[in-house]
This record gives sequence, C-alpha cells and structure tokens, in this order.
Amino acid sequence: MPSEITNYIQENKSRFIDELLNLLRIPSISADVAYKPEILRAADYIAQKLREAGADNVALCETPGNPIVYGEKIVDPNLPTVLMYGHYDVQPADPLELWTSPPFEPVIKDDKIYARGACDDKGQLYMHIKAFELMMQQNTLACNIKFMIEGEEEVGSNHLGYFVTQNRDKLQADVIVISDTGMIANDIPSITTGLRGLSYHEVEVTGPSRDLHSGLYGGAVANPINILCKMIASLHDENNHITIPGFYDNVEELSAEERAEMAKAPFSLDEYKQALNLGDLHGEAGYSTNERNSIRPTLDVNGIWGGYTGEGAKTVIASKAFAKISMRLVPHQSSEEITEKFQKHFASIAPPSVKVVVRPHHGGEPVVTPSNSVAFQAASRAFEQTFGKKPIPVRSGGSIPIVAMFKSELGLDSVLMGFGLDSDAIHSPNEHYGVFNFLKGIETLPYFFRNFAEMSREGAE
Ligand SMILES: [Zn+2]
Repeated sequence: MPSEITNYIQENKSRFIDELLNLLRIPSISADVAYKPEILRAADYIAQKLREAGADNVALCETPGNPIVYGEKIVDPNLPTVLMYGHYDVQPADPLELWTSPPFEPVIKDDKIYARGACDDKGQLYMHIKAFELMMQQNTLACNIKFMIEGEEEVGSNHLGYFVTQNRDKLQADVIVISDTGMIANDIPSITTGLRGLSYHEVEVTGPSRDLHSGLYGGAVANPINILCKMIASLHDENNHITIPGFYDNVEELSAEERAEMAKAPFSLDEYKQALNLGDLHGEAGYSTNERNSIRPTLDVNGIWGGYTGEGAKTVIASKAFAKISMRLVPHQSSEEITEKFQKHFASIAPPSVKVVVRPHHGGEPVVTPSNSVAFQAASRAFEQTFGKKPIPVRSGGSIPIVAMFKSELGLDSVLMGFGLDSDAIHSPNEHYGVFNFLKGIETLPYFFRNFAEMSREGAE
C-alpha cells in the first residue's frame, strides 16, 4: 500500500496542484458581500471536485449566509465514519501593495504556492478531496466519509451551528477531522491538541457632537482618540497582565510537569526574533514565548481609527474614535463571560467626558482535544508512517470556535491534522503553502483512514 499511495501522488501531482491553483484563483472573501458571487463559484468548484472524486449526495446546502458544501461516501454502515470539516472562504487580501504577486493569481516560487487561501484553508481542505480521490481510485477507503465545507469561517462561522443542528442525523460520525492548523516544521510533525477561544469587540468612543478645531477647542474638551488610547493602554499592567477584573478567574493553570513537557518542543528565540525582524520579545511576565501564545489568554487591538488620516495635516479634534479589540481565551474561560466582563470594564474606565459603546462581534470557546482517543492515536500513527517520526502534541494559539461547537452539538471530538507552518503567513500578505506540505497531507490522510478503521475494530473486539 505505501508505494501505491506515493506512486498515485507522483503520477497525479501536477494535476492536483493545477486544480488547487484554480480554486485559489477564486477570490472567495467572506468578509465583503461584494464577493458573494465568488463565494458561490468556490462552493460550486468544490462540489464539482467532490463529485468527480466519487462522493455521493453532493449538494450546496443553503443557510441564511453562505452555502455549506456537503458530500459523502458511505462504504458500509458498519464501518466507522469520519466527518471532514474545512472552509472555502478566505481572509481579505489587503494590504495589496505588500504582496509580491497578486493574491488571487497563484504562483509557485521555491516550491511554495503563493496565494490568499493557499494554506488557510483551500490548500489544506483540498488535500482531503485528493486523498479521497486516491482512496476511491485504489479501492482502499476503509471508513465512511462525510464532507462539510463551509464558507464563513473567516467571519465567525455564523450559520454553521444552524446547519449542524438542522442536520444532526445526516452528520452522524465517529470523529471530525480538520486540517486548518499547522505543525512545528516539515521535519518535526505535530498535532494540535488545544485551541484558544475568542471574544471580539468593536468599541466606539464619542466626545463632542461634531469634529472641532483643535486650536479653538483643544485642551478644553475630551479628544476621543486620546481617551481611547489611554483606555486601551490601561487594559494591560506593567507585567502585561490583563487588568479586566475577573479575567483570569477560570484560566486553566498547567502543572509544572505539563509546562516542562511543552518546553521540550524545539524552539529558537533567536530564529523567532529574526524571522519577524524583532529587536526583542514582549509578553506576559513569568511565561515563555510558547506559553504566551498558546496556554495564556491575551488581549489585542486589531484595528484603530478616527480623525484625519489623509495626506498632510488637519488640525482637528474628531468627534469619534473606534477600535477593534479581541481576546484569545484558554480553557476554561467562557467567551460569554469574558464578553460581559470586557463590556462592563471598558464602559467603567471611560471618563464622563466621553460616551462609550461596546459592540460584541463574535466569540468562540477554547478547547482541548483528547490525545488518548482512538482517532488521535490513528492520526499520530499516520504521521509517524509518512514522516518517519512520532508527531508532538501541541497547544495552538489560534481559534477554531467550531471545534467546541461540534463537541456540544454533535458530541464529537475533532482531530486537528494540520500540515501548515507558522511561517506560511496565513491572514497576512504573501500567504503560501509548501508543495511538500500539500502532497504530504494527501499522502498521510489515507493512512489515517486505514489506521482509524483498524484501531476502531481492535478497540471493539
Ligand atoms: Zn482557516
């Protein structure tokens, strides 16, 4: 079987890549309704490729938002069923001027595919479709498979919960497999075992009822931009702890052993700084860089605006200032609770000279996925079989809120078999995905299916 898999990939790899490039040419940006036709084009393309690969009952399932592409292959109802999740929507590509090639005209440079969505998540979801094709062609599909590929992940998966609750029976499965995360390095495979949650807000600070002349009024009225900056600055103390009362109440504290285990993952501070062109690192006192971005909660301003930002100078005191502020949460914080605490605190620190509105945007719960499940072991063995090394379980700093939703709505754990790298620049200009990673994913997934079927059988005996 091993050589058959690699032979099939060798023989078909240029077609696999061409098909992915065609998908990457579709600017399926979910954040901007102007791209709705492109969203539908991407969904159609995926549906067509699922059909060609041999999936049954392929359909674009309508939701109040973007459609979810569904497809399945039920080999035998007695076999275990794997539900694959991915998303065909992408982040906006701007700032465009920072791209070295246009974001929706994919190019391959140094064996990397450059395009918006190359890694997140089109490249990774497409591995599943091609691995499925391979198993169908070789008659080796050892589990039933269901595909659920949505188009709103980058805007909060607003209608996925609706779809899932409407289709509980149809989505029955034994495990969910998601490739929307990364691994440590191409020679250090890893599997993500935890994800942070999210609480996202937009805040609006209003001072005077209209923009004012900064000479005539400056010094006498509150400048909302100054005030907003001060309020934001006060959200961290001198140790970079977050100052919202009760923020850390439910934060899971890892034991010394768990922290020592985490510290074993290979990591070079110098390389990290160099890769980001940083003079020094920054973060919460008492925690390592790897801890700061995975097991600790954070608060970041994601955007800030107000006043005059055009060319030249305009001496104005703006009436309003705005910011987008998000918090990454860790087990066992609750997104709802943190949202409430943030709203209350942010309003409480505003001086009486301004009015503050906090609008919660979207949230998601943090999760830890079990590393002792059959599915996790099957995935771990699959990585070992194709990389020649046992993958390291790691906590990721990112958020995939739906993982917690799948657990609560479908009762299913997820296995996060991601093949991206942190350096792939997802959500940034020049996003890319290694050809190696794309093909390695296609190679590894069939092993997972075989292992999962075998190990489920062993477990049942
Ligand atoms: Zn993604």
